[in-house]
Amino acid sequence: MLKGISCDFEDKFREECGVFGVYAPGQDVVGMTYLGLFALQHRGQESAGIAVTDGENMEMEKDMGLVSQVFDEKSLSELADFGGTIACGHVRYSTAGSSHPVNAQPLVARYRHGALALSHNGNIVNASKLRQELEDKGHMFQTTTDSEVIASLIAQVGKPSVEEAIEACMDDIRGAYALVCMTKDKLIGVRDPKGIRPLCVGRLPEGGYVLASETCGLDVVGAEYLEDVKPGEMVIIDQSGLRKKEISTSKQKAFCIFEFIYFARPDSDIDGSNVHMMRRKFGAELAREHPVEADLVIPVPDSGISAAVGFAHESGITYAEGLIKNRYIGRTFILPSQNLRETSVRIKLNPIKKVLEGKRVVVIDDSIVRGTTSAKIVQILKDAGAKEVHMRISSPPVMYPCHLGIDTRSSSELIAYSHSPEEIRSIIGADSLGYLSIEGLYQASGLSLHDHCAACFDGEYPFQLEE
Ligand code: SF4
Repeated sequence: MLKGISCDFEDKFREECGVFGVYAPGQDVVGMTYLGLFALQHRGQESAGIAVTDGENMEMEKDMGLVSQVFDEKSLSELADFGGTIACGHVRYSTAGSSHPVNAQPLVARYRHGALALSHNGNIVNASKLRQELEDKGHMFQTTTDSEVIASLIAQVGKPSVEEAIEACMDDIRGAYALVCMTKDKLIGVRDPKGIRPLCVGRLPEGGYVLASETCGLDVVGAEYLEDVKPGEMVIIDQSGLRKKEISTSKQKAFCIFEFIYFARPDSDIDGSNVHMMRRKFGAELAREHPVEADLVIPVPDSGISAAVGFAHESGITYAEGLIKNRYIGRTFILPSQNLRETSVRIKLNPIKKVLEGKRVVVIDDSIVRGTTSAKIVQILKDAGAKEVHMRISSPPVMYPCHLGIDTRSSSELIAYSHSPEEIRSIIGADSLGYLSIEGLYQASGLSLHDHCAACFDGEYPFQLEE
């Protein structure tokens, strides 16, 4: 019997969510949000949604699936016909709250001044406690998400404006959040005090502003990058223009270092640093830390490409494409029969035998989570005739789960939690294995250890994990 199954080909931490918002009266805000979500699709493939306001009312369309599946010509033109001046959107992979249409975002809540639409990227570590407190006061929830807890807190706090309501709630909310909020006349962006998840601002050539998780979301609508929203900062955009407000200061910043390693698109810039160039530096440092005699450097596409370029450049070993990725596979596909399951990684990655035959190959990947895919990749390369396979990883061993908006496994499922690099090398069948060190990660990037979260490598979480 044919069966649709969810296949975890990539053995990666899963991206969390992407948020987008645009304030541009007289322009196609729905069309821009649609394009922005397309650019941010890598941050969440489970559901997508757009909310739009015309200054009085709000309309929304959201559902499970990719942006291209949720929106068609009819639904987009219906939203566009609404004549909106502000829109916000969201792509989601569920990190808190189950995978269900009701949990798709943007969330729309009613509050004393009208409707509030909210798109959230991150994870609130004290959401259960806040939820319980709200329920004790008689509040009823429609979803199981921590994002609704934020929306409900904002809606129920007795403040004269939405900015003041958000500000009043920030002391209570602990965890990671990059928010795009929309009222009938304002677009607001907020980052948590430690700045764990990214959010940036751009200006449109014909007037108006854009908020997006990454700069690739600005580029696609022709917006000029202005700056990243600072940790603990609120950006308010309305008819009087853009203004900023520092609403919380935390000495400890904790931007997610994994955005540079894997989550963000290589063409995005974060705080002035281009992600591709940063990954090249990781690759170069990896080559210095773990040199090897070899004939070729190949990436595990696509996430290993930038680091492989850096490794090849630093080591002087020829860069080549040795694995081809099928880019048309979603997360669920029809499995013809159970006994084909073992070969499922070949659906995603196929070797070029003519490139690999008889060669000593360095294969670069960004991370190893469970190790299952790494073992299959080594086997594929050896079956294709590679004489030696040396695996190099452009991040330190992933040993701890993330509790800040990334879907990860429990520690027991993370291979590096219970195995040394040498044991992992033996398990995946590689001739050698080398990980970038934490020191090398920071040294190569020039980033400050004190401004970043690297808890999945070192277990030093920026919050006490009560829940
Ligand atoms: S633990 Fe920290 S560094 Fe790792 S994925 Fe989560 S936020 Fe990012």
